[in-house]
Amino acid sequence: MHLKNSKIIVIKIGSSLLVDDKKKIRKKWLSSFAKDIQKLKSKNKKIIIVSSGAIALGCKKMNYNKKNLKLDKSQAIASIGQIELMNLFSHTFSKYKLNISQILLTLDDTEERRRSINAKRTFENLFQLNYIPIVNENDTIATSEIKYGDNDRLASRVAQITNADTLILLSDVDGLFTKNPKIFKNAKLIKKINNLNKDIQNINIKGMTEFGSGGMNTKIDAAKICNLAGCNMVIANGLYLNPISLIEKKNNCTWFISKISKLHARKKWIISSISPKGEIIIDDGAKKALTNGKSLLAAGIKKVLRKFNKGDHIKILDNKRKEVARGLSSFSSEEINKIMGYHSNEIQKILGYVSKSEVVHKDDMVEI
Ligand code: GLU
Repeated sequence: MHLKNSKIIVIKIGSSLLVDDKKKIRKKWLSSFAKDIQKLKSKNKKIIIVSSGAIALGCKKMNYNKKNLKLDKSQAIASIGQIELMNLFSHTFSKYKLNISQILLTLDDTEERRRSINAKRTFENLFQLNYIPIVNENDTIATSEIKYGDNDRLASRVAQITNADTLILLSDVDGLFTKNPKIFKNAKLIKKINNLNKDIQNINIKGMTEFGSGGMNTKIDAAKICNLAGCNMVIANGLYLNPISLIEKKNNCTWFISKISKLHARKKWIISSISPKGEIIIDDGAKKALTNGKSLLAAGIKKVLRKFNKGDHIKILDNKRKEVARGLSSFSSEEINKIMGYHSNEIQKILGYVSKSEVVHKDDMVEI
């Protein structure tokens, strides 16, 4: 139901879907998954895959047991396994004429604004090139203090920074149950959660942490991050063949529905963020355009105050220095000093490289 209206979909797959208990690669499953992705692509959906499996495949290759690994050793194993993982995807996806690329992220890449904007741009460029980004945590350098810790959280951050409509967590369980289904026979699958904080109070999460790889708690945390970003999330059983088609056909899964729009969430994030790094003074024409919901262009800028970087949070002031709006600048203060007063189609010539045409895009701006 919700997948039909989603333009950007992030899909997270856990190691247990790729490698079974006997350390055998689930090739048939991966092919069925690729087929599902091909179907989504034919409907013009933009897909990002967050895949675990680097450590599992590294252990398989080196004949190690995952449970006995210390952090430094597991980082080396992840480095070996990550190539195995990408080879597996490359080999399978090429049969379905799907292009893939690799993105390895560290916590700061989504948590720090400038880096997250850069990452977002890379995702957008890959979409334009018709490539499917396959994301994993950069396990080889992340220490315990700077780790996402699990790919549920990583996937929710990826969904947040890319403005995704839906995050699909493919797990080894059908979804969220009223009780632990391994213990209680009368446990029921909850199909829809509309108000996460309220609905969750009626569910006994205790004892479910071991249930589903990564545990239910990390999945609920991921749902909170997604829902606040205006993104829906679904937990579904990925062990079956064609797991995405099954969501559409059977809907035997748990949906976490966001009550806020993506644009509203983004604007709230802008307004509540840390103190602005600089100010831009604009002319009356630009002020009028802004109040009519338009983006801020270089032509209407009179002056830049203080130094800031691309992606920084800035104040937009009128010629009486009254604050009109706040937003994220697509250019650094240094660049704006060069391009202000000029028409947008002259920017590339002045700077010598391709860049955005708006200084602050309307979606990145909140009127005060
Ligand atoms: N990044 C880890 C790996 O690829 C997995 C982390 C997780 O599954 O949560 O092996």
